[in-house]
Amino acid sequence: MKVIVFGGDGFCGWPTALHLSSLGHDVTIVDNLSRRRIDDELGLKSLTPIASMPDRLRAWQELQGRPIEFVEMDMARDISGLDRLLGETQPDAVVHFAEQRAAPYSMRGPEEKRYTVDNNISATHHLLVALVERSPDTHLVHLGTMGVYGYSGGGFSIPEGYLDVAVRDEEGELQQREILFPTSPGSVYHMTKSLDQLMFQFYARNDRLKITDLHQGIVWGTQTDLTMRDERLINRFDYDGDYGTVLNRFLVESAIGYPLTVHGSGGQTRAFINIGDTVRCVALAIENPPERGERVNILNQVAETLRVIDLAELVSKRTGAEIAHVPNPRAEADENELVVSNEGFRSLGLDPILLDSSLLQDTIDLSRRYRDRIDREKIPARSAWNAERQREIDGDM
Ligand code: NAD
Repeated sequence: MKVIVFGGDGFCGWPTALHLSSLGHDVTIVDNLSRRRIDDELGLKSLTPIASMPDRLRAWQELQGRPIEFVEMDMARDISGLDRLLGETQPDAVVHFAEQRAAPYSMRGPEEKRYTVDNNISATHHLLVALVERSPDTHLVHLGTMGVYGYSGGGFSIPEGYLDVAVRDEEGELQQREILFPTSPGSVYHMTKSLDQLMFQFYARNDRLKITDLHQGIVWGTQTDLTMRDERLINRFDYDGDYGTVLNRFLVESAIGYPLTVHGSGGQTRAFINIGDTVRCVALAIENPPERGERVNILNQVAETLRVIDLAELVSKRTGAEIAHVPNPRAEADENELVVSNEGFRSLGLDPILLDSSLLQDTIDLSRRYRDRIDREKIPARSAWNAERQREIDGDM
C-alpha cells in the first residue's frame, strides 16, 4: 500500500513509519519538525540522541534497501501543498500523528493554548478537506487519546467510541440512539482531540470518508526491534515535565537517583500501551479499513490501566528508587477509576505487551545508558493548569 505518515518524525510516528516500510508498504513521512523546534524553545533534548531526518532516512535505506520519502510541510498552514501531495500520491492510507501532543505544554500559557488549538484543529481539518477534494478513497487513521474521556467511574468500562442511549420522546416512549461516548477533556490538548472526533463524525457521514480513530493510552518504552537496528534509527525519549510521559519519566528518575515524582496521591488511574504495540495497532488498523459510508471506526488502543502510585511502586521495586509525592499541576480529582474495553484490537489478534514484561527492564537499561544526557532541572512539571495549582507548585500554599 501507499501510506503517508503525518508526524512521522515524532515519538510514535517514526517507529510506525519504519514498521510500515518493513511490512512492504511505500511510506512517505510528512512533518514540519515542530517538535524538534519546541525542544529548542524549551531548552530540552531527547534522552536518546536522535539523528537528523536525512541521517535517519539514509540509515534506513542502507539497512533495509528501501526508501522512505520525506516531505517537510506544515499541514496546519500549507493547504495547497497538502492538496497537491494527496492529489499526486493517491495514498491507500494516511496516518495522522501530527499534532501538538503534550497536555502540560498546552496549559503553559495563552500562547501555547492558542498554538495547540490552531495547530491541531487546522492540521486535522485541512487534511479532511484535502481528502474530500483530492483523494476520497483514502483511509484516514488518526491517533486520538483515551484522555478525552476523563474517567469511567461507576463500575463500567469505557466502550469503543459509542454509547447506546434511550431518550423519552414526546409520547413518553423510549427511543434508542447511538451517540459518541461523551468526552470530558481535562486540558486544551485533550479539548482539541475531542473536537477532532466531531470533525471525523461529520466527514464520515457527509463525504463518506473512511476513518479510523485510535484512542490510545499513554505510550511507554522507546525502542522497537527496528529502531534498535542502528544508532541513527534511535527513537526519541522525552522525560521532561511537559513532554515526558509518566512511566518514562519515572524510569529516567530512577536512573539518576531522583525520587519518583508522583503528582498528588497518585490515585489517578491511566491507560497504558507499549510503543511496540502502538506500531502494530496502526498496521492492523490500516489493514482493516471501514467501508465508505460506514461510521467512524473507533478503537481503544490500550493494553492495561494502572494507578500512577502502583506504577511508581512497580518501578521502585525494580530499581530501589524512592517515591516522592509532589503537588499535582493538573486540575483533576486526586483519585479516579478507569476501566477500558480493548475488544476491537484483541479481536484483530493483538496480544498486548504488559508492564510486567521484560521490556520494562530494557527501558530502564536505556535510561541508565544515556543518564549523562539527563538535565535534572527539566524533570519537574512546571506547567500548572490554573493559578491555584501554580501557587502550589511554586510552594506558596
Ligand atoms: P510527537 O510530538 O513526538 O510527534 C508529533 C509529530 O508531529 C512531531 O514530529 C511534530 O513535528 C509533528 N507535527 C506537529 N504539528 C505538525 C504540523 N502542523 N505539520 C506537520 N507536522 C506536525 O508526539 P507523539 O508522542 O508521537 O504522538 C503522536 C500522536 O499520538 C499525537 O497526535 C498524540 O496525540 C497521540 N498520542 C500520543 C500518546 C503518547 O503517549 N505519546 C498517547 C496518546 C495519543
